[in-house]
Amino acid sequence: MKVVILGSGSYSGTPKPLCTCENCSRTRINPALRRTRFSLYFEGALIDPSPDLHYHLERLNKSVERVLITHGHFDHVSGLPELQVFKRVEFYSHKETLETAKSLARLAFGRESPENYEWSYHELEFWEEKRIGNMKVVHFPVVHTVKAGGFLIEVEGRKIAVTGDTGPEILMDERTLKLMEGADLLIAEMTHREAISGSHLGVREAIELARKVGADYTVFAHISHSNYPHEVLEKKVREAGISGEVARDFTWVEV
Ligand SMILES: [Zn+2]
Ligand SMILES: [Zn+2]
Ligand SMILES: [Zn+2]
Repeated sequence: MKVVILGSGSYSGTPKPLCTCENCSRTRINPALRRTRFSLYFEGALIDPSPDLHYHLERLNKSVERVLITHGHFDHVSGLPELQVFKRVEFYSHKETLETAKSLARLAFGRESPENYEWSYHELEFWEEKRIGNMKVVHFPVVHTVKAGGFLIEVEGRKIAVTGDTGPEILMDERTLKLMEGADLLIAEMTHREAISGSHLGVREAIELARKVGADYTVFAHISHSNYPHEVLEKKVREAGISGEVARDFTWVEV
């Protein structure tokens, strides 16, 4: 099964307009370094419809049937109306996030499902195991600036863990660590150089998380323009002995 990280960036993307930092300046010269906002795809399922979703779908060119949303921040949900190319979409998230998703649909279409479409919204309780199509999903809570959660997904005998945006508190959360332990693939956020408590991981904390989870393979994503340059991040991951990589846009992994 192919897991595609459609967008590897954080809320402002790279380059951020008018920013003159090293990453933004380099990316304007070399567009291959571009980081669009975070989103993930595998087997008809999309995690987080980012504001760059149109570009993602354009390149991915695959159908989306199910959408899981980690939280209601605009960089994770505001591309939702772009899903109007698909007649039947099921949305899954926690109640509060789902309300944001519905309000975006109402804003775009005047209703929660575009006319003659079959879009449906399904509430997930934290820690409740839910069967969604061929997936078994657990939505687990994380500490972030709004109500947010990650996902542990079992599909085709494989386990994929996705942190979503999370503060470094996740490193002390034994229940969540136990759930993610030994996953085949961990997608961990690595937003900043230094962690911000209650908000995002830093490089050190993201690597520490990867070590604790001990996944077969870890992909670090949701990387801010103000983080270290890509090759510096890769070197840090390599030196830490982690089996994995730092995502670029459209990085894909076979699990
Ligand atoms: Zn984010
Ligand atoms: Zn910048
Ligand atoms: Zn966020």
